[in-house]
Amino acid sequence: MILKNLFKKTSSNKHPISSKDWDKNISSFAVEIVKKLQDHNYEAYLVGGCVRDLLANIKPKDFDIATNAEPREIRKIFKASRIIGKRFQLVHIYKGKQIIEVATFRAGFNKDNTTIENDLIKDDAGKIIRDNIWGSIEDDCNRRDFSINAIYFCPINKTFKDFHQGIQHVKEKKIISIGDPLYRFEEDPVRSLRAIRFSTKLNFKINSKIKEAIYEKGELLGDISNARLFDEFCKIFLNGYGYGNYKKLVSFDVAKYLINLEKKYPNNKIYDESFKNTDKRFKDGKSITPGFLLAAILWPKLIERCSSENGINVRKFFRSMDSVIAEQQRITAIPRKFISYIKDIWYLQLKLNDRLKNNPNKIIKHPRFRAGYDFLLIREKVSKDKSDLGKWWTNFQRNDAKSQQKMLEKVKKTVESNGNYNPRKGEGKEFGFSEELR
Ligand code: ATP
Ligand code: MG
Repeated sequence: MILKNLFKKTSSNKHPISSKDWDKNISSFAVEIVKKLQDHNYEAYLVGGCVRDLLANIKPKDFDIATNAEPREIRKIFKASRIIGKRFQLVHIYKGKQIIEVATFRAGFNKDNTTIENDLIKDDAGKIIRDNIWGSIEDDCNRRDFSINAIYFCPINKTFKDFHQGIQHVKEKKIISIGDPLYRFEEDPVRSLRAIRFSTKLNFKINSKIKEAIYEKGELLGDISNARLFDEFCKIFLNGYGYGNYKKLVSFDVAKYLINLEKKYPNNKIYDESFKNTDKRFKDGKSITPGFLLAAILWPKLIERCSSENGINVRKFFRSMDSVIAEQQRITAIPRKFISYIKDIWYLQLKLNDRLKNNPNKIIKHPRFRAGYDFLLIREKVSKDKSDLGKWWTNFQRNDAKSQQKMLEKVKKTVESNGNYNPRKGEGKEFGFSEELR
């Protein structure tokens, strides 16, 4: 199919695709790679998310290329390249800071859509653990997850290959599985998370067969490696659609395969607010770290574990930090650099209550103060018993030294008039939001 025809067909669309937009939004490095592969007499196309996003009038975030050249042959053509992956071999091609992923066409299905059982390596549950059988473009498209992800586009002569009505499904805003989703999710349970992610990002409907398959096969997500689930965690929650994805994950009852949730989780507003906050930061172009989000969404579990009748048990609070993180690490790996970050944010939730003497002037210099304070604001936002602690810190940061001193004196007076106060004792009220400690 030629791009011009596509323009004609979509010209009635509210946002017609113009070839100028396509040229502007397609990475010139990706085009260069396709051209070079074709010059070496290989087939090569843009495929996957980038084509889908271009058709949906979204600027692609990265570009995937598919070719009939095998990894070693690709390596020979591109000096700055590397073969990566075991389960799924790919070639990364580099130019400055850019990396483009090139995949060799894969087979795995017979013509009648049954799997070539003897060649794919599967485990007992039917999950594919090795998938490196090369094939033709027709084979390759059957191995992809959804029709909208199986559209091939040649940026040189601007033509499409669309074997599963993917272009039609983009227009109709539908997510349709290639083959029976029950079977496809058995092969790779992460496809269910991908369906949810694409439906939120693109505002597309998940077709009912896929929905049923998510309910039925969701539990297979429990067998996916924690490293792969951490990658998926980041894609799901840190790309601007975390809140919508979280809501869908909860409704399909699969949120627990990504997050170490507290028992009463759907009722805890901390989750909602943390995802909304991350989405807003994404939209505002602010920095986003999985460390902050993890500290926020593991907080309810930490509190659940150290709540006691009188408030929190501080000893348990510190002891539970490691177990809550370790449990999350069994679900999704957490790169080591984030562990101390998470603990610092938690520790600061106690310290931020400690406003006697010169403590605030020390705390404000803590390298993670800003993150701890940001999280305090999130907690305060969802809390019913407003203590105004967040507001106090907002003012304290804004004020000059003289006004800060006045603020400290006022705290001292209030404490004196209320009797002895020991924030380290961690009694409900001093800790901040006693309502969190149900
Ligand atoms: P995005 O990059 O926007 O997250 P994407 O669709 O490009 O979305 P990638 O993970 O980059 O996702 O994969 C590129 C393409 O490879 C997909 O569009 C799909 O065709 C295929 N693919 C990726 N993961 C799977 C999978 N688990 N099962 C089947 N096909 C897959
Ligand atoms: Mg992609």
